[in-house]
Amino acid sequence: MKHTKMITLLSLLVVFLWSASCSLPKTDSGVVDTAAVAANVPDPIGNALQAAQEPAVQTPEPTVLPEEKATAAPTAESILQTEPDGKGIVQFTVVLHLEGWDDGEKEISFRKHAEQLRAYAALFERYGAKMTLESKEIIDGCINWEDNVLLELSERGHAVGIHADAGGEPGASVRSIAKTLNEMREKLSSLGIETNFASGTASKANWVKACKQGGIDTVSCMVAYGLWSLNPSLRPDGFEPYQNPSDGHAPYPFALEDRVQPWLMADGSNWIVPDPDGTVLLIPSGLSLNGASEELNGERVHESELTQADIDAWREVLPRVIAASDSKGVNTFYAVWSFGKALDMDLLEEWLRLINEYVQAGSIRWSTIPQMAEFYRNSPER
Ligand SMILES: [Zn+2]
Repeated sequence: MKHTKMITLLSLLVVFLWSASCSLPKTDSGVVDTAAVAANVPDPIGNALQAAQEPAVQTPEPTVLPEEKATAAPTAESILQTEPDGKGIVQFTVVLHLEGWDDGEKEISFRKHAEQLRAYAALFERYGAKMTLESKEIIDGCINWEDNVLLELSERGHAVGIHADAGGEPGASVRSIAKTLNEMREKLSSLGIETNFASGTASKANWVKACKQGGIDTVSCMVAYGLWSLNPSLRPDGFEPYQNPSDGHAPYPFALEDRVQPWLMADGSNWIVPDPDGTVLLIPSGLSLNGASEELNGERVHESELTQADIDAWREVLPRVIAASDSKGVNTFYAVWSFGKALDMDLLEEWLRLINEYVQAGSIRWSTIPQMAEFYRNSPER
């Protein structure tokens, strides 16, 4: 939207310059270079295919991340483009929901999960990959069984936040959601982990306000159920009167291509409208890791195993993600993994190798949810 005004201003400038003088000096840096603009027609599919087909040399050994690239300075040409140019760097993570267990009560269950987590982390680290852990019952497990695996993993470069599952029950309020968020943050704090991001906050109540009161400034994995909090006049096409968060489980925005740029939200009544003055950042959901093929086919993602079909689905989706990226903005995407049955480690490594092709090509960069949020807030071009 902010581009619209710039385009209008620049269009006027261009028209004025054309009428004032018929020749625009190509090298005059202060003047819009229309030839360059014409030559700079975006070719998202071509770029994405290139990114997909030209991974750097395949080496059997995982490789380290490339050096951080400075974001290109905005130019008159870039301001004139309104569509994503398909040339962005996508900040990428795996968001792992540590939920649905009885780790606070059962030591054996907790110890098994802690060891699984360590094994996954070791594999991810071989690829320079960063996980984002959104934790629930495992927090009590760490406290009760005195194994602080969450702090250990955060010290190893992964991020630890909250999976709240607050807001979906009847009668949920701003107060009840904020209370849950504050309690969970305090428990994590007692484990030495300070956090300010959460998922599982979708509600009919004003969940954006609840996040602010609950010390949460970044929200991930938002689902359609969260559309309930909107002013009814803002409900998008596709909204249905969802019974609960599990009924309204589809990621929002509905179109995958619309889930590649984060935005700031001011309030639960209008959160789908980006507000530069908002204080809570939404980093939209990506695609399920182990239910990718089901999600792409529009099927319900149950607890599912990671299969070859899921990896094929990711192979199909990544060029679309890159095509929806924009070199002038902050781009984000992630795999959502609800930690259930143990995954096949060979397939998980195959998936990591697929992502690594994009990392080596420079179009994906591993980054946790809080790192994405920091990058967004510090970016002058958002
Ligand atoms: Zn949940």
